Amino acid sequence: TRVRMVVGNWKMHGSLALCREMVPAMASIAQPDTALVLCPPAPYLGEVARLAANTDVQCCAQNVADAHSGALTGEWSAGMLADLGCRYAIVGHSERRRHYHETDHMIAAKAQACLEAGITPIVCVGESWVQHQTGQTEVVLQHQLGTLLALPDWRRLIIAYEPVWAIGTGVAAQPDTVEAAHRYIRGRFATRDPIAGNSMTVLYGGSVNAENAMQLFALPDVDGALVGSASLQSDALMQIYTAA
Ligand code: 13P
Repeated sequence: TRVRMVVGNWKMHGSLALCREMVPAMASIAQPDTALVLCPPAPYLGEVARLAANTDVQCCAQNVADAHSGALTGEWSAGMLADLGCRYAIVGHSERRRHYHETDHMIAAKAQACLEAGITPIVCVGESWVQHQTGQTEVVLQHQLGTLLALPDWRRLIIAYEPVWAIGTGVAAQPDTVEAAHRYIRGRFATRDPIAGNSMTVLYGGSVNAENAMQLFALPDVDGALVGSASLQSDALMQIYTAA
């Protein structure tokens, strides 16, 4: 079933003090019908999970390993996230694709590891500016979604459409562009299973703020947002959440 949700991705920002400010502030407004999810940097996941326990705030990792255990220094598994009480992990963010060379194959393996451990992966897809300008958006999305559709449990994925050119620019994609991409993404899944495709949760990310959130959330195929910089300010994140 489609879940309305607002996910705050702090990226490599924030502090223990921000965790202690943000979680109670968000818990005071979170409602069970719309998920409010915070993704702090990994060292703070334990603290956020502890503060969020018994509230309607959920905890999410920004990344996860593709294996359940092993001699993999610096990695953490989906099972460890589940152990903390985390429900979600972002997988395949464009910053990880770009700076850490994550491929569609690696991203699908990470999503699979999450599904096996009971963590819901929020898998990011989206085209670059050049790809957008040259009309390749659907081809890029088709490739990125192809490996995900091969996963037996693809129905349990959450997809975040994040056009790379709209991330961190202050200018979100236009509503018609967002709706077209979301409809395409949903359609790819629907060709396999119309009911499942229509019930998947598809989020938009890229310069979502308190001003544009309402217009984006009104789009029929947008179920919520993956918010970067605005998620570091409690008033902005509260306004975005209220718009959802
Ligand atoms: P901004 O909201 O800062 O553009 O970041 C979007 C993003 O990448 C969320 O994952």
